[in-house]
Amino acid sequence: MGILVVGSVAFDSVETPFGKVEEVLGGSGTYFSTSSSFFTEVKLVAVVGDDFPSEHLEFLRARKIDLSGLQTAPGRTFRWKGQYGFDLNEAHTLDTQLNVFATFRPRLPAGFEEAEIVFLANIDPELQLEVLQQVRRPQLVACDTMNFWIEGKREALLKTLRHVDILLINEGEARQLAGEANLVKAARVILGMGPKTLVIKRGEYGVLMFTAHAIFSAPAYPLEAVFDPTGAGDTFAGGFMGYLAASRDYSEAAMRKAIVFGSVMASFTVEDFSLRRLQSVVYSEIEDRYRKFQALTEFAGLD
Ligand code: AMP
Repeated sequence: MGILVVGSVAFDSVETPFGKVEEVLGGSGTYFSTSSSFFTEVKLVAVVGDDFPSEHLEFLRARKIDLSGLQTAPGRTFRWKGQYGFDLNEAHTLDTQLNVFATFRPRLPAGFEEAEIVFLANIDPELQLEVLQQVRRPQLVACDTMNFWIEGKREALLKTLRHVDILLINEGEARQLAGEANLVKAARVILGMGPKTLVIKRGEYGVLMFTAHAIFSAPAYPLEAVFDPTGAGDTFAGGFMGYLAASRDYSEAAMRKAIVFGSVMASFTVEDFSLRRLQSVVYSEIEDRYRKFQALTEFAGLD
C-alpha cells in the first residue's frame, strides 16, 4: 500500500560518549523512510539545499524510496547538532538550523495525494498540516514531534493533532505536551487532543502504547553496544508504520506486532552512527531479532 512521509532530511553533527561525527546524513524523514522501506513502498516529501551530495540521494534511491517529492532549493540543507551524555535516552540539542526548511512550501507530485497512509515525521507542524491537507482520503495518519515544536509552535501542533490517528513521541515530550508528570495521566490528556492511539518511546526502557481501552508495554532490545541513539525514534516509527502498511491491518493486535518491528529496527540504528547500520542490515536479520524479542518477553500464565 505504501506510505507518504514528510520530514526533515538533514546533516547531523553528533557527540556521544563513544565518538563524534560531523555533518553526516540524518533527519527524521531520512531515518523513517529508510526504516519503512524494508517493509513497504515509501514516498518522501522534503527539501534539501544545493549542498546535498548525490551519494546520499543514491542511497535513498537504492532503498527504492520515491524521491519525486524531494525538492532541491538554493541554500543550505537543514542542520542539527546534538549531544548525549552517558544517559543515552536524552538528546541535548546544541543547534538547529532550519535553512531551506524555513521557506519550504510542499507541493505533492501527481499521485501522492492518493496516499492512504501518511506519516508526519518530526518537522514544523504547519508543514505537517500543509502536506496532510493535500492528501485526498487518508485512511491512517500518524505523527511525531519534539520539544522544539511543542515549545515553539504549540497552537499549530494542537491543530495538526486533531487530524492524527496515532501519535508517537518520547516520554519527556509526552509530559511536556500534556503538562502532566504522570505518564498514565499524560496519556489520557493527549488522547483527548485527537489521536486514538498514543505510542510513548522510552529509550532503553522500551515503549508504552495507550488507547482509550488498553495499555501495552514492550521492552527495548537489550544491546551491549549502543553508539548513537540519534534517529532511534524515527527508525522505530518506520518499522512500526512499515509493518502496519504491509499487513494492511490496523487492529490493536497488529499494532502490538508493529511495536516490536519498530523496536527491532531502532535496535539496529543505535549500533552505529548516522544510518550506517541501516545501510548494511538485511531482512533476515530483522526477522531473527524479532524472534529473539519474542523469546525475551515470553512467560507462562497463572495455572
Ligand atoms: P530522533 O529519532 O528523535 O533521534 O531524531 C533525530 C533526527 O531528528 C536527527 O537526524 C535530526 O536531524 C532530526 N531533527 C532534530 N531536530 C529537528 C527539528 N526541530 N525538526 C526536524 N527534524 C529534527
